[in-house]
Amino acid sequence: MQKKLQQLYQQALVWDAHAGVFPSPEVDLNLLDEWPQSGASYLSINVGFDVMNWQETMATLAAYRHWLLTRSDRFVLVSNTRDIDRARGENKFALSFDIEGMNALNDDINMVGLYHALGVRQMLFAYNLNNTAAGGCHDQDTGLTEFGRQVVSEMNRVGMIVDCSHAAYSTTMDIIGESSQPVVFSHSNPAAVWDHQRNIRDDQIKACAAGGGVIGLNGMGIFLGDNDISIDTMLRHVRYVGDLVGNEHIGFGFDYSPKVDVDIGVILRSRPDYWPAGQQYDTRDIKHASPQQLPQLIDALGDSGFDEAAIRGFLGENFRRVANHAWHG
Ligand SMILES: [Zn+2]
Repeated sequence: MQKKLQQLYQQALVWDAHAGVFPSPEVDLNLLDEWPQSGASYLSINVGFDVMNWQETMATLAAYRHWLLTRSDRFVLVSNTRDIDRARGENKFALSFDIEGMNALNDDINMVGLYHALGVRQMLFAYNLNNTAAGGCHDQDTGLTEFGRQVVSEMNRVGMIVDCSHAAYSTTMDIIGESSQPVVFSHSNPAAVWDHQRNIRDDQIKACAAGGGVIGLNGMGIFLGDNDISIDTMLRHVRYVGDLVGNEHIGFGFDYSPKVDVDIGVILRSRPDYWPAGQQYDTRDIKHASPQQLPQLIDALGDSGFDEAAIRGFLGENFRRVANHAWHG
């Protein structure tokens, strides 16, 4: 790695906008060590998704909170970006939670504030399929419902990042129109580079960027390409979004999980409604880029002419800008 970029990486805020760890109270969170070991500063980890009911999400949230709060020598559950800076200064790893889909709300708007109080700082509207708030990317594209609109406004009010990943096209355009704060796609790649229903169209990227938002590029091989996580392929996604809307709208949400005992393939095949056939979810041995690839990727970005400010933006400053607005400081 070029020495200057190596220094930059060591000093930079490194923000991973979404982990793909299968949420459960049983998860041994020692697996989180892989992030700080890779040089990451902050991670948003999911405590639930629409496949689970709200009680299971609450149980996972309780277990993760307990685990993190009893290890305050290593981890900080953050409320705002100042907490992230403080954690970095103390050489601790910063985290907050996200939830993938509104089933966790149990159709009750008051749950938004409760989740916020418990450390959830980012919520997605649907997980691939439709729910009472929104349309999912693998379902009929029905747009945001009246309840979904109320949720956007409540998230803006309490201070959560509005996240459009996994939602259907019309829903995301409705969300972007409705939100008074910049929104993100925390872990979504451009469909123009690799055509997949989970990837997003130019219109979505442009609308997100026009509101000051950020696209977090996903490290999963089936969203990057044909189960392809090469640096060249990742670079192609960065370059595409940068050329389309500008480098200040790019970040990373690797959607990564370290190797766990759970066989993810078995889970994916068990719910063909959420992970439908024909979308490569049945690929054997799905490859996954993680923050471990960042030093190599930064080198490639430097070689391709991206300057240090752009690289710092990709690594974390762009997401920090959104969080400063969305989290109210
Ligand atoms: Zn996801």
